[in-house]
Amino acid sequence: ALPVKGDTVSRPPTVHSLHHEHERADGMLRLHCNENPYGPPSGVIASVTKELEGRCSTYPDSEVTALREALAGQVGVGTDMVAVGNGADELVLLITLASAGPGDTVVVTESTFPGYAASAAVAGATVRGVPLHRDRVSATALVEAVDDGARLVFVCNPHNPTGTVLSPAAVEEILRACERTGAVPVFDEAYIEFAGPGFDHALDAVRAGRRLLVLRTFSKAWGLAALRAGYAVGPADLVAGIMEARRPLPFSVNRLAQQAALAALGSPDHIAEVYERTTRERERLCRALTGLGVAYVPSVTNFVMVKTPGNSTRFASRLADEHGILVRDLAPFGYPGHVRVSVGTAEDTDQFCAALGSLLASPR
Ligand code: PMP
Repeated sequence: ALPVKGDTVSRPPTVHSLHHEHERADGMLRLHCNENPYGPPSGVIASVTKELEGRCSTYPDSEVTALREALAGQVGVGTDMVAVGNGADELVLLITLASAGPGDTVVVTESTFPGYAASAAVAGATVRGVPLHRDRVSATALVEAVDDGARLVFVCNPHNPTGTVLSPAAVEEILRACERTGAVPVFDEAYIEFAGPGFDHALDAVRAGRRLLVLRTFSKAWGLAALRAGYAVGPADLVAGIMEARRPLPFSVNRLAQQAALAALGSPDHIAEVYERTTRERERLCRALTGLGVAYVPSVTNFVMVKTPGNSTRFASRLADEHGILVRDLAPFGYPGHVRVSVGTAEDTDQFCAALGSLLASPR
């Protein structure tokens, strides 16, 4: 069962079966996984290919040293304050295994990225779901849920699937509540680059020596989802705990992922460019939705939560079957009547809006 609104989740949701369920033949327009249609910076694929040709039979660096050093330099912290994982996914699991077990509570917002609850279930910890307030994460509600039994507080920011972002004051409020009880807040910033510059409050807090973890990924704005690399930044003892939890899988971040991420960091302008293109296209998509009389939640990310005409499960399957477009039905996530649509290229937006218009004209 997936986490739904109002539920306290204690069983693992089937995270990956959801992905498989929506995998279809090539040729479908993929607007269901929040992928970056622009890909990685130029030169990254060539550098990965070269690495593969030259060093295919040698194990990767289990400590991921070069990439951690590069990230640490960029963030402005020590290398011992950065951990790298096989995507942010793996880090969510490792952080949970390192910090929570039976009898402990992991606090999450309801109806969000299912990896937090799935990891808590593997660790044997109890999940406490906190409702959103008008499609936004409520710092007040989160703070109320953080008691002495809470070990971790996963804050998806910007929030998936609503696309909303917390104010600096809300981030501070959550940090203070965790500092009072000893819980570790984990700010999952998988989509933060799409919000533009000026959203570094959580990283600023790490730089100021406070107790939190910040998760980021190369899968989204960097366009490297296939390669699997994500990173966590936080105090050295928490990072050491992650590295310890990773000990059974020392080579989980493969050579190509390490090389790709390192090469990508050499092109920081890529992020500004992806931000600009995504913002422009998201605004165009939202104007078109308004024009079609379709409601949506204003987003700062590369996806938009859209209210569907009628049943969202039927809407998503008609979109796939009749128009070859994949979107994420949010009914199993506690948002019946909504889908999440990734922001693609201009052509993708046009194709989606034409299909939406046609479904609106022929309701079933
Ligand atoms: N956090 C959130 C909020 C996500 O949406 C995703 C992926 N969809 C992840 C983490 C995992 O990203 P990665 O590809 O780095 O494992």
